[in-house]
Amino acid sequence: MTAAPRHVYVHVPFCARRCSYCDFSIAVRRDVPVHEFIDALRRELRIRLGHPHTPLDIDTLYFGGGTPSHLGPDGVTSMMVLMREYFRWTPDAEVTLEANPDDVTATATAAWWRAGITRVSLGAQSFDARVLDWMHRTHGPSQIDAAVELLRETPFTSWSFDLIFALPAALGRSWERDLDLALGKCPPHLSLYGLTVEPGTPLGRWADRGEVQPGDESAYEREFLSAHDGAAAAGFDHYEVSNFAQPGHHAQHNRSYWRGVPYLGFGASAHGFDGATRRWNRAAYAAWQKAVVGGEDPIGGSEPIGDGEQLLESVYLGLRTTGGLAVGPEELEQVRPWVAAGWAQIDDGRVILTPLGWLRLDSLAAALTPVRGSP
Ligand code: SF4
Repeated sequence: MTAAPRHVYVHVPFCARRCSYCDFSIAVRRDVPVHEFIDALRRELRIRLGHPHTPLDIDTLYFGGGTPSHLGPDGVTSMMVLMREYFRWTPDAEVTLEANPDDVTATATAAWWRAGITRVSLGAQSFDARVLDWMHRTHGPSQIDAAVELLRETPFTSWSFDLIFALPAALGRSWERDLDLALGKCPPHLSLYGLTVEPGTPLGRWADRGEVQPGDESAYEREFLSAHDGAAAAGFDHYEVSNFAQPGHHAQHNRSYWRGVPYLGFGASAHGFDGATRRWNRAAYAAWQKAVVGGEDPIGGSEPIGDGEQLLESVYLGLRTTGGLAVGPEELEQVRPWVAAGWAQIDDGRVILTPLGWLRLDSLAAALTPVRGSP
């Protein structure tokens, strides 16, 4: 029997504008249909969990997107009131809201905190006005500064910066400067992502037309490693490929994904996993909303996770964190050259990748999986 999910994700799809690199399932709206969204979310919860409903005990709740902060202070409050009808959590549970700096106002942070948000993930991306403009972000550097002040003044348990590295060289972005500015604000947590060129995005079209030359692999490696060194010197634990935390600020919700435990997902495009089968909702906001208004489960598809996939996933997930992967004698032989190359270390029967190893995560996970799967 699989364990009951103790982690819940809610996808809030609204954004003021599509960022140049973004291929997420979003709905661009200047005026967010807050009531329509909350009503649709209520319907999905009712359809899938039943009503009346004894609240399920959970450990983490994560509002991602899209831009959940774009719901406004009252919208976030209404969403939290709704979630409490279906879920129960203790005051030390992690309740994260993704926010864009231009949505972080004194009114908003006070309302979020009163509503029970404990952690804010701030989509800063860069402190360079030209770069933010190129990314089609709706905020400037001064709004990041103002947002950080407000996050510090509000008694949230934690907050985090998102930054993007490996930008096209022609932009002349100084990654060292951005990193220094971010570290100088002493965030409890950092998430750093390398830019990828996705088809169908403005960036994808610029690249297809030859107007943009994506950043090369050596720049990616250099910036990733300099982030590791800089953050480590500032006291951060680089505990997962993309994530860095000060002591006590490791993100709990994402850990559930890395550990492969069950979780529930609500909202357009949201994924869920019950321990054996993965499901996902219809991706487009309009299709998701129409389904739930019609009384249907808005499922877009599902797939059972077979033994082979489960194996690859467990290797991949194990290798991406400093928790590492427990290995047997045969795997140890496979891993020894990685240790010699500086890609991994072995600690108490576990293989733990180094930052150099994380740069090769996909190929190392693929190399280890057949060894692990052999009789
Ligand atoms: S704010 Fe986030 S979700 Fe919205 S368009 Fe930009 S990157 Fe995508």
